[in-house]
Amino acid sequence: MPESLRALSWPALASLVGGSLVALTVVMSLVGFAMERWLSKRRIFAVPLFDGQYRFELVGNAVFIAVVTSAITAALRGGWIRFGAESATRAALTFAAMVLGFQGYYWFLHRAMHTPALLPIHRWHHRSQVTTPLTGQSVSALEAVGWALAWVGLPWLFGLLAPVSFWGWAAYIAFNVTGNVVGHSNVEPTAPMAATRLATWFANAFVYHSLHHARWTGHYSFQSALMDRIMGTEWSDWPALYARIVEGHPLRSLNERGDEAVDAP
Ligand SMILES: [Zn+2]
Ligand SMILES: [Zn+2]
Repeated sequence: MPESLRALSWPALASLVGGSLVALTVVMSLVGFAMERWLSKRRIFAVPLFDGQYRFELVGNAVFIAVVTSAITAALRGGWIRFGAESATRAALTFAAMVLGFQGYYWFLHRAMHTPALLPIHRWHHRSQVTTPLTGQSVSALEAVGWALAWVGLPWLFGLLAPVSFWGWAAYIAFNVTGNVVGHSNVEPTAPMAATRLATWFANAFVYHSLHHARWTGHYSFQSALMDRIMGTEWSDWPALYARIVEGHPLRSLNERGDEAVDAP
């Protein structure tokens, strides 16, 4: 961890962490809205938003950023994470471990939040049936705690095995926010090559998570189809819907199914 950060007071560090997250969220939301505007021929759902959706989602974003800022500030000030000397190798390994660790963690958190007992925690995020760039971080305070546990808990856990890279970890947080915010845009920007079965082991087409919001079940993964494929929760008709969207035919109902539809994952 850089000395300049270690020297900061609690309020200064919290302001820096919170300010960085707000700035990244604003910029990535603008990117998402610009994509929705300029790629309007690739719209995913031609279904209206609910009244006051943006306002509702903004509140969720404020809650999310407040919770994760508190957690990151506490972790840095408290020295919870064992950071080592910076090197390109350590940064790359830390980033890769965060990518895989978060995907594994998130699938189980997300699937658990779809059980009747924990669903109240997750309802806020699902209030958005059609997604916007503001949907990704629109969550309840308790769900935000679930995210914070991974952002801070995974590097703490990795640090028990070997020192982690501050910059590799920080880069992953930025990558996570970017993908989550932009990835909730109601538009499909990916090239067909990026929507093949092989490519989606690494990153999903945008329609993939849109279907989770529309259908409530299946597609619990974050970032890629990896965990859904392992756990058997991938819908088989999303490629057919993808093809329809990129041909300029948006989905006109939340219940729309592709040719290879199955009952439920
Ligand atoms: Zn969900
Ligand atoms: Zn979502």
